[in-house]
Amino acid sequence: MAGPTKIASFRLPPLPTIGEVIKLYNLRAEKQLSQNFLLDMRLTDKIVRQAGSLRDAHVCEVGPGPGGLTRSILNAGAADLLVVEKDNRFIPGLKLLSEAAPGKLRVVHGDILTYRMDRGFPEVITKAWEDDPPDLHIIGNLPFSVSTPLIIKWLENISNRTGPFVYGRTRLTLTFQKEVAERLTASTASRQRSRLSIMAQYLCTVKSCFTIPGRAFIPKPEVDVGVVHFTPLAQPQIQQPFKLVEKVVRNVFQFRRKRCRKGIQMLFPEAQRPELAEVMMREADVDPTLRPTELSIPDFRALADAYSHLCSENQGLLTYDFREELRLKHLNRRPGSSSNGTQQP
Ligand code: SAM
Repeated sequence: MAGPTKIASFRLPPLPTIGEVIKLYNLRAEKQLSQNFLLDMRLTDKIVRQAGSLRDAHVCEVGPGPGGLTRSILNAGAADLLVVEKDNRFIPGLKLLSEAAPGKLRVVHGDILTYRMDRGFPEVITKAWEDDPPDLHIIGNLPFSVSTPLIIKWLENISNRTGPFVYGRTRLTLTFQKEVAERLTASTASRQRSRLSIMAQYLCTVKSCFTIPGRAFIPKPEVDVGVVHFTPLAQPQIQQPFKLVEKVVRNVFQFRRKRCRKGIQMLFPEAQRPELAEVMMREADVDPTLRPTELSIPDFRALADAYSHLCSENQGLLTYDFREELRLKHLNRRPGSSSNGTQQP
């Protein structure tokens, strides 16, 4: 009887090191683009392991640069790796890597903030939202200036099941400035608890994986870096539109050190502020003396539900912005201005 067949695992052929690739293509890191490269393959392998098994998986890598993390993803057995890189200086080196991994690496010269990932992968990989996550992962070591707006955009995509989440609950493994990683994973009452903690945790299981010291990057950034893993929840913890949740959370956290009542009041026009804020807190059964950092996700769920209820009863409340009311008030106080804030000739 024949013995068990050993599945051949893919290994990249011998290639110039990432350091040599950088020299070969003269890939000086651009300070303006906050480029910091990872040259140590043990570290890039460790980041990739946080994603789970990539054998035969589809992967999108954001910001591959000289390709260190890209090599680790290929060596982990990904069958289909799509990389999106904005800086055209990296494209020839990535094409060389693509030749070393025939049929496995697709190189896109583009901006991840506008790239249509909903068109990047075959429809057959799609899983129902309530099902297990699809065999699609997003992995990236992006500049900090991109990773924070990008995760907010992707959280909104998770809520709407659009973008990379048309395929189901696509998992993300991303790097952030350590302080941002701490905010993303901060629990109730911790010092780092913030708007980002609530927005990420009501939609995902968020796991802090490990910290990479700044000295591991070339050139060395000012700060350390945190690797964070996200799995979208089958059932979001707050069942309201993303923009409504974002508005409630933003208002509550704008007075971080005060009691939560103060931020909640700012959701309402000045004339009705105390009454409607009281109604909202009573309906949500939230203690108005708690600080924003002390509120749990169920507290935010109750607040978002109560606010949504009040919006359905008070026309125009959803679009009300206290800053706009303040701006108009300020304009009206200026000599020569009319009651609607326009200047009189
Ligand atoms: N992944 C590489 C590594 O770990 O060594 C490079 C990391 S470097 C911090 C970030 C990379 O993201 C750079 O190659 C940069 O050009 C690219 N990048 C920056 N903004 C981008 C964007 N909006 N879309 C795609 N790539 C971007």
